[in-house]
Amino acid sequence: MQCAECGGNLEKKIIIYNQPWGEGKLYQFENVPALVCSQCGAIYLESKVSQTIDKIIQSRQKPIRYKRVPIYSLEKPLV
Ligand SMILES: [Zn+2]
Repeated sequence: MQCAECGGNLEKKIIIYNQPWGEGKLYQFENVPALVCSQCGAIYLESKVSQTIDKIIQSRQKPIRYKRVPIYSLEKPLV
């Protein structure tokens, strides 16, 4: 398997996957099996895996825990 972005090799890895959802929402999934490009870091999920993620989000399952996420902007020049 090769990366569609850069042609690099894809490695099977267990990753933490962030799934943005709708307006201002983010869901994080741990222990996600994925293919990761060893060159550019692009992440590929099997359709079965991304379907599972969609299903979990849509069924509003109770998460194992919550994380607080501080948001910063680099829009203004850094002082
Ligand atoms: Zn790549």
